[in-house]
Amino acid sequence: MDYDAIVIGAGSGGLSAGGILASRGLKTLIIEKSNNVGGCASSFAADGYQFDVGACIIEVPWVHDWFYERTGRRREDYVRFIRNDPLYELVDMMDGNRYLMPASFEGVAGLISRFSPRDAESFLKFCRKQGAVMDRFSEVMMQTPQGRIRDMLRLFTKYPRILGSMKYIMSPYSKLMEDLFEHPFTRRLLGTPAVIGGLPPSLQSGFMFWQCYAEHVGMYYPEGGMGAVPRGMAIVFGEFGGELMMESEVKRVIVKKGKVKGVVLTDGTIITAKVIVSNANSKTLYERMIGEPDVPKAVIKGLKSYEFSPSCAVGYLGLDYKIDLKAQHMMVLADSRLLELFWSKMFDEGIALGESVGLISSPTFVDPTLAPAGHSVLTFITMAPRHLKGGRWNDIKWDYLEKGINMVDNLYLPGIKDHVTFKTIATPEDFENRINLLNGSIYAYSMSIMSQMLFRPSNRSRCIKGLYLCGASTHMGSVPGAVASGIMTADLALNELEKVV
Ligand SMILES: Cc1cc2nc3c(=O)[nH]c(=O)nc-3n(C[C@H](O)[C@H](O)[C@H](O)COP(=O)(O)OP(=O)(O)OC[C@H]3O[C@@H](n4cnc5c(N)ncnc54)[C@H](O)[C@@H]3O)c2cc1C
Repeated sequence: MDYDAIVIGAGSGGLSAGGILASRGLKTLIIEKSNNVGGCASSFAADGYQFDVGACIIEVPWVHDWFYERTGRRREDYVRFIRNDPLYELVDMMDGNRYLMPASFEGVAGLISRFSPRDAESFLKFCRKQGAVMDRFSEVMMQTPQGRIRDMLRLFTKYPRILGSMKYIMSPYSKLMEDLFEHPFTRRLLGTPAVIGGLPPSLQSGFMFWQCYAEHVGMYYPEGGMGAVPRGMAIVFGEFGGELMMESEVKRVIVKKGKVKGVVLTDGTIITAKVIVSNANSKTLYERMIGEPDVPKAVIKGLKSYEFSPSCAVGYLGLDYKIDLKAQHMMVLADSRLLELFWSKMFDEGIALGESVGLISSPTFVDPTLAPAGHSVLTFITMAPRHLKGGRWNDIKWDYLEKGINMVDNLYLPGIKDHVTFKTIATPEDFENRINLLNGSIYAYSMSIMSQMLFRPSNRSRCIKGLYLCGASTHMGSVPGAVASGIMTADLALNELEKVV
């Protein structure tokens, strides 16, 4: 065998798994298709500006600490996080009013109490009572494999108090908002995390209110841009002798008699290993990189039932001025019916709406080194269908970018379009082509509760020996979810490898 372990893909999940495997003395190779580490959570440079490819928010930062602790390192020596406060500047679509979303729970309650003191009290009560459950459960959940019923039972046995919170977790997000809060403003304000979680409030599960809670526990941005996060992990990987092969794509995983033997690259090179850890999407892995008969029909059928999370497009702007901002991030506050309407236009009808609900991030607000002196960078993320009704992204992408710039100019930052010195866009199709992001889906599969935990593919393959999976398609989509999946997957692979190495 050429290696003990081959990791396919240097996304957050692959780097996390690879770093831990290498730190345990295993001869490990990570093979990455693109010329950059980090996948959706990386950066690129253009015209003197540093842009985040996709992810621009770090929550539950202690997951990153776990990775460094597991490799005997300190996170602060590799990447530093800057706390966001306020979290967002919010523009209310109902009346154009603007609000700052404070970082602290008390600050949020203060904002809500301007509209409804009862809602403010209800918010604080929820955070006090459910917050304690959430803190403990999310820590256990982030670190425990959940691919089998047995794993789930173990999880609930470890932390039975979660059963008392099931009514919040299972209820639709919009119902939770209605049950807890009386004022439409509160529902709009606290409804935004449902959208960040990739679904409008009526389709999202109450589970995602944890996202809202987590934001107020702490939302961060890494010094040096999002790319600093995977770069730190790649440095640790290299320090333990891990090898990174860039701009090389794995085409097939070689399986013989139900066990992995190695991989074949697109140029025909064969590399062998005792275990394979895949950070590629699990559908792509099982359907295209292995396929029948090594993957049973039932598994292929099961994979087809997974719903994708929404896809999106990202506009990247370099600006020749320092934008007058109050927070790194900006969002709209929209009524849930409006969000449903946007959603159905985009994802049921396949219509690209340049003015669709999104997130704006200007990281130079917290780290001015990402642009030349006196300049700024700004990215805007719009939800966008992967497959367009009667058209292709390549035909409309530049018009779509202009629509997006107009949307930012009209709704958020008047006058910005006169300052654009650099602009480009990544569409869902670009994400798919550049980093194999299947369907351009930001969290791989849906983030509804019925697509989490047991309902996502297992970190240890149940049909192929020596095959392990990590990344958003196996755990909670998001950067911390992917890093946590890498830690769990490395543990599972180590268990097997330590028996034979
Ligand atoms: C626009 C956007 C915004 C987002 N915003 C946030 C946010 O603010 N906060 C947050 O927590 N999450 C956010 N997310 C989600 C988060 O970024 C992802 O869930 C997470 O980064 C996924 O990590 P991953 O390890 O699963 O894989 P990916 O990031 O998808 O990386 C997989 C890597 O594997 C490589 N690869 C795939 N197939 C092969 C192959 N066959 N051979 C070789 N290499 C291969 C790819 O090139 C890629 O580098 C966002 C996602 C997007 C797209």
